[in-house]
Amino acid sequence: MVSMVDVQKHFGDLHVLKDINLEVPAGQVVVVLGPSGSGKSTLCRSINRLEPIDSGRISIDGVPLPSEGKALAQLRADVGMVFQSFNLFAHKTILQNVMLGPVKVRGMPAKKAEELALSLLERVGIASQKDKLPAQLSGGQQQRVAIARALAMRPKVMLFDEPTSALDPEMVNEVLDVMTSLAKEGMTMLVVTHEMGFARRAADRVIFMADGEIVEDEVPDTFFTTPSSARAKDFLSKIL
Ligand code: ADP
Ligand code: MG
Repeated sequence: MVSMVDVQKHFGDLHVLKDINLEVPAGQVVVVLGPSGSGKSTLCRSINRLEPIDSGRISIDGVPLPSEGKALAQLRADVGMVFQSFNLFAHKTILQNVMLGPVKVRGMPAKKAEELALSLLERVGIASQKDKLPAQLSGGQQQRVAIARALAMRPKVMLFDEPTSALDPEMVNEVLDVMTSLAKEGMTMLVVTHEMGFARRAADRVIFMADGEIVEDEVPDTFFTTPSSARAKDFLSKIL
């Protein structure tokens, strides 16, 4: 579903993605771990071209990433993205936030988009809040709306970049629960997180990044019990 081949990326002199090769088959859940500054966000952002790469190839469901125009907009619509900051439209209701993409980008009739939005708000457990503005919701609720909004585009893959890092601790689980159920339903997911419980529970694979490189690519059990690199051992010793 996601294919990255020989991907290189620099910011000036800083080599942030060093020869990244990564294949994520449909339905797989990949958790990306690594210290701050190791290139995790840049990796995510390169997948929908929020960050252009220097060289290499990226394709989604067999389609090479277009560089611009309508084809790029189409591809971006296939890749749902959820960030640390929820980025909801502050002056639109929860329902409108979720309806907007399908109407504007997919050309869906408003009535149909509303039905879809309601069913997704139901699914993330927040339908009763549909007429409120984002600021009237808690952080955990807003992040669940952000997930519903991404799902409304019927994405082929969902990227999560530290979706719970900005939340108060008591709200982390309500968001992780939604992500876990998505994973169980077979969504293809790439998840950058520091939530090791989620990684153990939901991941099919763990990718460990350090200094712009994929240092380990393992099933969770192997990664957490017998990491092979010194850098992963060091990382785990600091967080577990
Ligand atoms: P992570 O998400 O693992 O913390 P990032 O992908 O955000 O890492 O960043 C990788 C490196 O690239 C860091 O050293 C960061 O400072 C740098 N970086 C990220 N974005 C930019 C940018 N737009 N311009 C210059 N440097 C950047
Ligand atoms: Mg980051």
